[in-house]
Amino acid sequence: MLRFGPFPISATEIFYSTRLTFGLVNLKPVTPGHVLVIPRRVVPRFADLTQSEATDLILSAQRIGAVVEREYAGQSLTITIQDGPMAGQTVPHVHIHIMPRRKGDWANNDDIYAEIDRKEADLGSALSEGAPRVDAEEERVARTREEMSHEASQLRPFFSSISEEMGGADIWK
Ligand code: AMP
Repeated sequence: MLRFGPFPISATEIFYSTRLTFGLVNLKPVTPGHVLVIPRRVVPRFADLTQSEATDLILSAQRIGAVVEREYAGQSLTITIQDGPMAGQTVPHVHIHIMPRRKGDWANNDDIYAEIDRKEADLGSALSEGAPRVDAEEERVARTREEMSHEASQLRPFFSSISEEMGGADIWK
């Protein structure tokens, strides 16, 4: 079972995997196609990654970014890491945010960073079975497992050959 920080992750919400990295659809995307690229090993900081993990993570972000930009009709990508809690990281496990961008999607282009940075106040209860999937602070409803699984199943075919080559296809078999 893979984990994202303290949270066990369902294989149905993963759309990409290699021996060292996985791609996860987002519980609370800030743009259509906002996904996360995550090392399999649970470590909090970017500098904690080995050279192989860091390389695989970045190459995975390149591949995933190209696909989500195309599939969500983006024109650019915002790619970001909040590396530690003082930088806005809420889940203590390295992750790269990839967000397709379009002209005019935010009136002030950089407002997306404030949106990413909002506190995930009630993430724990949003994730537990049967609990209301609502963020208490933002009143932003988290997506259902069905919505997340559906998106992952739509993205997965774009990566199946890479996942097999890179030794990661075992996750959802
Ligand atoms: P950060 O604030 O940089 O740590 O980002 C955490 C990101 O993880 C946010 O975009 C959340 O919506 C997302 N997130 C948190 N828990 C989960 C989860 N279990 N599955 C998918 N996405 C999650």
